[in-house]
Amino acid sequence: MNDSRGSTGTTAFAAVVGTEGETEREDRIKELLSKMTLREKVDQMSGDESWFGLADMLFQYNHRPFYAGENKRLGVPPIKFTDGPRGLCLDHSTCFPVAMARGATWDTELQERVGDTIGYEARAQGANYYGGVCINVPRHPGWGRSQETYGDDPCHLGAMAVAMIKGVQKHVMACAKHFACNSIEEARFFVDVKVDERTLREIYLRHFEKCVQAGVASVMSAYNKVNGYYCGHNRHLLRDILKEEWGFDGFVMSDFIWGVRDGVAGVNGGLDIEMPSSWRYGRRLRKAVERGDVNEEVIDEAVTRILGQKARFARIGDPAGYDREKVASNEHAFLALEVAQKGIVLLKNDENALPLSVENVGKIAVIGELADKANIGDRGSSRVNPPYVVTPLHGIRDKAAGKAEVVYDSGKNPASARRVAGDADAVIVVAGLTYKEEGEHLSSVTRVGGDREDLNLPEAQESLIKAVAEATDRCIVVLEGGSAITMEAWKDEVEAIVMAWYPGMEGGHAVADVLFGDINPSGKLPITFPESADQLPFFDKKANSIDYGYYHGYRLFDKEGIEPAFPFGFGLSYTEYRYSNLRLSEKQIGKGGKVEVEVDVTNTGEIEGHEIVQLYVGYNGSKVDRPAKELKGFARLHLEPGETKTQSIELNAEDLAFYNVDAGAWEEEEIEYVVYAGPSSRQEDLQLSDTFRVSGP
Ligand code: BGC
Repeated sequence: MNDSRGSTGTTAFAAVVGTEGETEREDRIKELLSKMTLREKVDQMSGDESWFGLADMLFQYNHRPFYAGENKRLGVPPIKFTDGPRGLCLDHSTCFPVAMARGATWDTELQERVGDTIGYEARAQGANYYGGVCINVPRHPGWGRSQETYGDDPCHLGAMAVAMIKGVQKHVMACAKHFACNSIEEARFFVDVKVDERTLREIYLRHFEKCVQAGVASVMSAYNKVNGYYCGHNRHLLRDILKEEWGFDGFVMSDFIWGVRDGVAGVNGGLDIEMPSSWRYGRRLRKAVERGDVNEEVIDEAVTRILGQKARFARIGDPAGYDREKVASNEHAFLALEVAQKGIVLLKNDENALPLSVENVGKIAVIGELADKANIGDRGSSRVNPPYVVTPLHGIRDKAAGKAEVVYDSGKNPASARRVAGDADAVIVVAGLTYKEEGEHLSSVTRVGGDREDLNLPEAQESLIKAVAEATDRCIVVLEGGSAITMEAWKDEVEAIVMAWYPGMEGGHAVADVLFGDINPSGKLPITFPESADQLPFFDKKANSIDYGYYHGYRLFDKEGIEPAFPFGFGLSYTEYRYSNLRLSEKQIGKGGKVEVEVDVTNTGEIEGHEIVQLYVGYNGSKVDRPAKELKGFARLHLEPGETKTQSIELNAEDLAFYNVDAGAWEEEEIEYVVYAGPSSRQEDLQLSDTFRVSGP
């Protein structure tokens, strides 16, 4: 980094920022580039962290932004990277429910507000780049970082990610990660994911393309290999698909430290920035250019992308309009509460065990260590240190204060827990996982995080639930965790099950709101909960190489004709909804056409609620093997008791195409499409259907 200031340089970058027209701005960037030495250009392409800086991060990862590419001589600002899919790792930021919980809201408008708030907090704390839009597909829910992503369906993932990006990019650059097929944590640095081109495009990349279409500033390459090449060097992924085919004009950043193995392969493959330091880039890259191993035009292309995004975001937002005092303010915490309330999924509710009436319930036993723990998720790069966390016990006590008696037992001694349960009118067991059982994997020594051992609850918790359930006929289990949990060992013995995920700093209040009926649960599963791991694709957390086949999630269950414990899209409510009158605007459309799908939804119960309407499409007569149905649209609908509303969802023929490998292109088939509308992916829930054809150009 050159420290000498020069007015010429400062005006060069300012001139780029100040230029209105796109073409003029491109010219100004060229001008700026022409003023840069090779060293200055290469310096744009890596993080500025020293060894000392990295050592400091070992104590508290990401507690300040990581800088990359500051050039004081030319007035080029650094990228200031911060992270955190559920809120920022910086200082004491707002901790939202994890992305999986937000996926369960199926609420894109809400997600945009979360993005807006996180973007604001990033900027107010000195960052200009946010690395927390994680959209990998958890092909298997045992993936330790499933909590960082929104679910396992590309349509749903794409919609949630686009909303997040829109929100964040009102303030700072956003980064979609990890490109691509990053979904085994403990093998992430070496595993080679073998995936055929059609599966890659349709299942693992489609939602990334949506982010590019939405103007995401950056994409982070993954650590793993795809079809033999590290993602950070993967020309097919980074150049052929991302930059050329999709026309991505942002920059690609490496995942940290082990994201580039070979600088020449990286830069030629399409990786623009090495983070967080210059181990493979920097001096080595300069030498490679001088040797002729890397063409200087390749460097220019990378730097043009970086400068282009820096200039784009230097124009966004009023720098004086960011107030640090608003970080984790009441207003932001209130949004975290709303998200937690909307993301909680009611999985089981026999005999209307829920909601509890605070006036009539009498004595409530709250059982389980997690009831009294701040359990907000992973402690790796997505760790947030909020100013406070409301635990479930705290939330329940707040709610019951002066109205019902609450007794707490940690459950460490099941016999005592059973006594406490037997003596109560309702029993709430809080169980689940923590950062110890799932999360980012940094070292085998600490045995913290990583992929799941199995999908069950820890054995002691299963025994506790069974013991308690025997002592009461109103046993309500609240689960915390980042993805699917198998519960066949105890599911039939309890009356109600509530999936609360890692619900963020206000989670305990949200849990209590749902348990006591102040909030009617409306979340739906964004990932299938299997009965057992045997129903899922092969998963090996130590794999050197693994095949990612076409089928996972509900597509796999449909194909195999097997029933999961709880299907994708499933979630109960305290009211009931009726679907009727499915209608399509067209019975036949041309390629590239659209169909407007309308369906009436009635709240037939006694209380207001939000329903998530889902639209699936099946294919009749396709020339390739296709899933029985795929999610192609969804919407959240608010309904008063007795109210009927028409929900309209647009279907684009383009989104129904399959990837034709021989042609190297997407193909919209001229066949019949079956449209299903309903409350979940379960076939019995999709009684309403109609068909239309795509025919002709
Ligand atoms: C993670 C990334 C993260 C980066 C910086 C890496 O270990 O894999 O997801 O963005 O750290 O925080």
